[in-house]
Amino acid sequence: MKKRTFHFSGKPVNYYFDASFDVLNKLVPVESAVLITDENVFEAHKKKFKGWSTIVLKPGEQYKVQQTVDVIIDQLIELGADRQTTLIGVGGGVVTDIVGYVAGVYMRGVAVGFVPTTILAMVDASIGGKNGIDVGLYKNMVGLIRQPQFLVYDVDFLKSLPKHQWENGFAEIIKHAAIKDAKMMKELSMNNIGYYQKNKKALASLIERNVQIKIKVVQKDEFEKGDRKLLNFGHTIGHAIENQHVLLHGHAISIGMVYAAKISQVLTGFSETNILVETLKKYGLPTAMHFDIQEAMQVMQKDKKKASAGMQYVVLQKIGKAVSETIPMKSLEKLIKLYS
Ligand code: NAD
Repeated sequence: MKKRTFHFSGKPVNYYFDASFDVLNKLVPVESAVLITDENVFEAHKKKFKGWSTIVLKPGEQYKVQQTVDVIIDQLIELGADRQTTLIGVGGGVVTDIVGYVAGVYMRGVAVGFVPTTILAMVDASIGGKNGIDVGLYKNMVGLIRQPQFLVYDVDFLKSLPKHQWENGFAEIIKHAAIKDAKMMKELSMNNIGYYQKNKKALASLIERNVQIKIKVVQKDEFEKGDRKLLNFGHTIGHAIENQHVLLHGHAISIGMVYAAKISQVLTGFSETNILVETLKKYGLPTAMHFDIQEAMQVMQKDKKKASAGMQYVVLQKIGKAVSETIPMKSLEKLIKLYS
């Protein structure tokens, strides 16, 4: 196990990499902790929860809503949780988002820690302090930016993670490589999911590197004024098609990244689209799809990344170096048509 402390807004957050779930016993007294997880994680890892007060939620994005917050709060009251209680979210991004939010508002704020159990939650969702819930069709409409006290990385949880969720997480890992780390892209291009499933050391190290990439970006720009925007690489078109079709987020941003790479060819002279495409394919990710461009443009019009002069769009100069550019909506539409 490796402990690293990173500071956000001057406050320390402890990261326990390559750790085991049991380390929780050393971090929080059992009597003042409440673990919150979902049914899938609980069923697959029942033994780990033995002895801990645990709230088990229904799994899935459709439960990342106020009603679940109310259910959790009722149970916390019933369990006698007070200001000394630490909430520990054990699960994917849905669980860490909702638990981070509940911890921010329960008794005006109690301590929180995370044990992320999907690749996506490990390298992305649980890092950076953003949390919250969906309201109707609007994702992450209500929430806070508030850091956890600690994160525990136990890759053993991933043994039960379904294959499509591995692909989903690797889309974000490949995104990190594309915008920040050419060396990591090289490593990824030579391996595949099977390799990381069999090689625990390589997996733990890959996850740690990705956590560090996200942390660095967030530390530079905790409140999303500059560098944090680069994490939106592939997300502009990705979100637009994710809304149109029932697609996994990772699959949608994979297609979005390919469009962004091709658009980069025109805007920056980027010349490594094939490396990105081949790497995405190796991880079972889609690289093309027919979609309604007009409808996608309408979704993008409403996108929060739109400035008055056009769309804030993340492009690559080379693998490992991304920049944010403003593209007029008309030019963006032309480029999307060109590559469809
Ligand atoms: P998720 O939490 O829904 O998990 C995906 C599925 O895997 C669920 O069915 C879950 O029950 C199951 N699962 C989780 N861990 C498992 C395990 N170890 N074994 C077996 N099954 C397991 O989704 P996710 O992809 O982890 O996260 C997506 C969420 O994260 C979205 O709500 C998104 O908005 C949020 N997110 C937040 C941030 C942020 O900065 N706060 C960033 C990115 C994404």
